[in-house]
Amino acid sequence: MLILLELCLASYLVCGKTLSCKQILTSTTSLTLPTSTIAPTTEYVEYIPGNINLLISVPHDGTVKLETIPDRTAGIKINGMCNYNTLGINLNAVNPSDICKIVTGRDLYASDIAKTLLQEYQTLSGFTAMPHIVIANLHRTKVDFNRGINEAAQEHPLAETIYKDYHEMIKKVRQTFRGQGLVIDLHGQNHKQNSTELGYLWTKDELDNFDYTSPSSVKGLMKRKGVTAKEIISGFTSLGYMLEEAGYKAVPSNRQINPGSDRYYRGGYITQEYGSRDGGNIDAIQIEVPSEIRYEGGPEVNAKYGRKLAEIIKTFFEHYY
Ligand SMILES: [Zn+2]
Repeated sequence: MLILLELCLASYLVCGKTLSCKQILTSTTSLTLPTSTIAPTTEYVEYIPGNINLLISVPHDGTVKLETIPDRTAGIKINGMCNYNTLGINLNAVNPSDICKIVTGRDLYASDIAKTLLQEYQTLSGFTAMPHIVIANLHRTKVDFNRGINEAAQEHPLAETIYKDYHEMIKKVRQTFRGQGLVIDLHGQNHKQNSTELGYLWTKDELDNFDYTSPSSVKGLMKRKGVTAKEIISGFTSLGYMLEEAGYKAVPSNRQINPGSDRYYRGGYITQEYGSRDGGNIDAIQIEVPSEIRYEGGPEVNAKYGRKLAEIIKTFFEHYY
C-alpha cells in the first residue's frame, strides 16, 4: 500500500498531472486508498482525491493560455456596477474612474507548495490521511477562478465551462464532507513584506480596529468550539502563531495582530463562497504566501515551507475538526 501510494505521488510529482496518479489509485481496488466518483469535466482542472474533510484549492497558478479564449480585459462601470462585456469598446477612451481593473498575474509556484504539502501531510499521518486538492491549470489571463463568474470568465462560453468545472469540484468535494470541514485557498502575493497573509474575511480596517463583529469565514468553527477571534488569529493553535514559531512571519499572528501600514489580503471569492460566513460547518481560510518564499529563495525554500505548512495545517485541522 505504501509503495503504491509513493509510486502514485512520485508519478504525480514528476509529470505534474493528476491523471497517472488517479489511474493508479482507481485501478487498485483492494487498497483502502482514496478513490473518488467525482472528477473534473475538463483537462484544465486537476483533482487529487483525499480522505479527510480538508480541501486545498490553488486557483491562480495555471500556465495554459488557451488560444481559443481571448485574454480577459478590464471592465467598465455602468450605473456603478462593473460590466466585463467590453468587446468593441476602446478602454483607453473611458474615464479612468469608470474602469474596473482586473488582475492577470500568476501566483507563481503556489501549486508546488500544495503538492509538497500533500506529500508531507501523508507522511506525517503514516499514510492514513490525505487532503483533497483542486488545482486550476488555465492561466489567469483566461479565467480568474477566485472571482465571480462575470469578472472571471467575461461571458466567453468555454471560459465559463472551465470556471464552472473548478467550482463544481470544490462543491462536490465539500458535499462529501460529513460534518465539519475546512477549505484552504492557497495563493501568492508580491507585497515584499516576506510575510504569509492569513485571510478570515475580516478587513484590514477591522483587524486594525480590533473589530471582529462581522462574520468571518471560520464563523462555524468559532461557534462550534466557542473560540474567540483573538484565539483564531493569534492563539497557540492558530496558523499565525504556528507559522511564527516555525520562523515565518505571518499576519495576523501573535507577533503582528493586525496589518497596520502593511498591505494585506483578507480573503477572496473562494473564501467567501466556501467558508462558513453565511452558515454551515465548513470553514475557509485564505493563505497568501509571499514571493520571497515561493520563488525568490529557490526551490528548496519553497519545499521547506510546504513541508512546514503541512505540519501546521495538520495540527490546526486535528485540533479543531
Ligand atoms: Zn491568488
